[in-house]
Amino acid sequence: MYLKRLYSHQDRDPDVALATAPRLKIIHANEIWRVTPAALLEGVMAGYITMSKSRVVIHGIVPGGTTRTTQDVVFRIKRVPGLWCCHCGLRLISSPVAQKHVIDQHAGLVSPDKNNPSGYQQLNAVECIRE
Ligand SMILES: [Zn+2]
Repeated sequence: MYLKRLYSHQDRDPDVALATAPRLKIIHANEIWRVTPAALLEGVMAGYITMSKSRVVIHGIVPGGTTRTTQDVVFRIKRVPGLWCCHCGLRLISSPVAQKHVIDQHAGLVSPDKNNPSGYQQLNAVECIRE
């Protein structure tokens, strides 16, 4: 995901900046978007991201368009930060639980994720899938 914040003198006043959102140019949107919770909340606070249930909508300006030419890019939250099984995608609550799960449920199998040979992954971002 490549986004570009657009600034103006009005941005110095937070109330004006919120009232004039969106002020973001969407340069490129991938099918999978991994974003930190802080960046997600910053977008909500600035007004260029809205969230409802598991949907995340980025309100931006179409490349080459004017500030009136907006485009929404919609994502659905697939995974939140935490431990996840690389074999079956189950969310795991702690490292001991993750180790026990992999031993009990996937014994003898090589992890499908070569970057996580333990069979489970620590995800530090919110993983979103484009709709
Ligand atoms: Zn599993």
